Amino acid sequence: MNTAMHIMSIQHQLVLAIGEETDLKKMLYTFLHLAGQCLNTTNNHIFIMQDKQGTPVYQLNNDASIQHFLSFPTRKEGIHTNQSSQLMNLVTDFSEKNIDSEVTQFNSSFYYLFKLGEFGVFIIERKNALSKEIQSALPQVINKLTNSCIASINYHTMVFEIKMRKEVEAQIRYQATHDDLTGLYNRMEVQRCLTKAIQATTVEKKTGYVLSINLMNFKSINDAIGYHVGDKVLRQVADRIKNSTDKETTIAIFNGHEFILIIDHLPANKMKAQLIIGDIIAEIIHTIEHPFELAEGNFSLSCFIGYERFTDNSKTAQDIIKNASIAMYEAFKKSKDKALAYKLIMSEQLNQHIRYTKEIKQALINNDFELHYQPQFDHLYNMIGAEALLRWNHPTRGYESPAVYIPIAEESDLIIEIGNYVLEQACRDIKRLRQRVLPTYFEQISINVSAKQLAKRDFVNNVIAMVNKYQIPASSLKIEITESIMMGNLERSIDGLNTLLKFGVTCAIDDFGTGYSSLAYLKRLPASLLKIDRSFVTDIHLDQSNKAIISMIIQLAKSVNMEVIAEGVETEKEVNCLIELGCYKFQGYYFSRPITFNKLLEYRH
Ligand code: C2E
Ligand code: CA
Ligand code: CA
Repeated sequence: MNTAMHIMSIQHQLVLAIGEETDLKKMLYTFLHLAGQCLNTTNNHIFIMQDKQGTPVYQLNNDASIQHFLSFPTRKEGIHTNQSSQLMNLVTDFSEKNIDSEVTQFNSSFYYLFKLGEFGVFIIERKNALSKEIQSALPQVINKLTNSCIASINYHTMVFEIKMRKEVEAQIRYQATHDDLTGLYNRMEVQRCLTKAIQATTVEKKTGYVLSINLMNFKSINDAIGYHVGDKVLRQVADRIKNSTDKETTIAIFNGHEFILIIDHLPANKMKAQLIIGDIIAEIIHTIEHPFELAEGNFSLSCFIGYERFTDNSKTAQDIIKNASIAMYEAFKKSKDKALAYKLIMSEQLNQHIRYTKEIKQALINNDFELHYQPQFDHLYNMIGAEALLRWNHPTRGYESPAVYIPIAEESDLIIEIGNYVLEQACRDIKRLRQRVLPTYFEQISINVSAKQLAKRDFVNNVIAMVNKYQIPASSLKIEITESIMMGNLERSIDGLNTLLKFGVTCAIDDFGTGYSSLAYLKRLPASLLKIDRSFVTDIHLDQSNKAIISMIIQLAKSVNMEVIAEGVETEKEVNCLIELGCYKFQGYYFSRPITFNKLLEYRH
């Protein structure tokens, strides 16, 4: 082969060696390997610009420096340390020079150095010199090598960037569809999943259920112990639900602590599906209500579940979730069953609830509320007081029992506004009443106070302020409370009642006997009067067990030095029977229905 052909062949082989490889190390390895063979070298080295992590970079930046990258033949022990530092010195000197190639001789070897653009150096190590022809043919190959190196580094940077972008995108997608704390799906995502599940259920003719689970006393953990504990509990609840359901179950969380589950692929047969879902629900309740043992203490949660069935696409995902939540809310409100299936009437009641809330707000603005009074009597038919009862003169519904709308107002802060109205109006009426000649035995007007109102910090001050504003004796006002105060902040309520008692405002326990009445509770409350609920009074002369209960209540009251009054007395027979049992105070239709304030003013007994 003539020299020209030989050189071309070398060029050709080396260029081919660079090949199509995108991985820098592999490409250079092949190149060095072939260069060794073609050029009969003892060793070849590549030094390139690398950052601190050893990643090749082709642009000079502060962090990057030229470092040994690869040698071939690769010696087991690598390049000797002293050879390595000698080579490094060679490379550094060479890099600073404004030339593309040079040859030096030391350690009885020839070293041919070629610049790989700005970013690296290629070294051929040989026992003897290269021919001039080969030397001059090499820069062309080196050029190609440089370009390929840059392309490879670029390619990898791009691949890396795409990977990073994909990761960031995946993270963003994850965050957009998941709850941060529990890793469960969020509202948006569960709606999307449910839409798919509805389609599948319709096509496959199966049954699916959406469950809405709410943790009842969760907020108190957050409030009393702190969010960090609340968060831990929430994560554990999420895990427990995951563990107690199938892998395919879609689980989401929204509104802080409302869990939504989609359970589908259940049999089309309603009975069969109902049985399965019943078991699943029982298992979930069991697992959630099992105590949580944390470093901060042991906690227990109770939960309520509402559920809605779907078999086809007649309802939207949004509606099904909403219905399950409505059923959950109903279960919570009734507190009788832990789980309830959605029924249309629940929505109707909820709508009525919403309508009432709006109307109550308007009624407060329009001044549509008024107070009627139901007189109370002793056994000698002397009027001894009266209970203020709220009346709402509704433009279309007329007078309606507060038993209908007070519970609705109690669910929002509207009850506070209503309570404030009642307090002020009653004080105003007491003042007017006292300007007349009162019946001899008339003691006071009592007002009904809801647990929520009593639990308010400013309640006591409001009462005192009103009594002072209208300049009425504190003893002319009594407040009626029910056992529902036990559900709220009992300590604060008791403190408030004690302060009021010192001020002179007394307290009665309303509807006694219908709740959880316990002697211990009765003893702690600074109340002076027990109101026996109408349910025990009605037909007392005919019902032995009610008679026994009332007799017991009277004894109980005596033992804690309280007076009793019977509510809802409707007949003379009831009156006589009550007197026989030792109750001498009455309120009820037999004596008088609730009457307007003007009628009360006219009452003379
Ligand atoms: P309550 O405090 O137990 O009031 C007694 C209820 O029994 C009144 O119903 C009264 O009209 C009714 N009643 C009285 N005597 C008889 C009787 O002989 N037979 C029958 N069948 N019923 C009798 P009303 O006025 O509909 O009030 C219902 C409930 O609404 C009250 O029960 C009370 O819990 C609540 N409420 C009424 N006014 C207020 C108020 O101003 N504030 C608050 N927070 N609640 C109120
Ligand atoms: Ca009452
Ligand atoms: Ca009552």
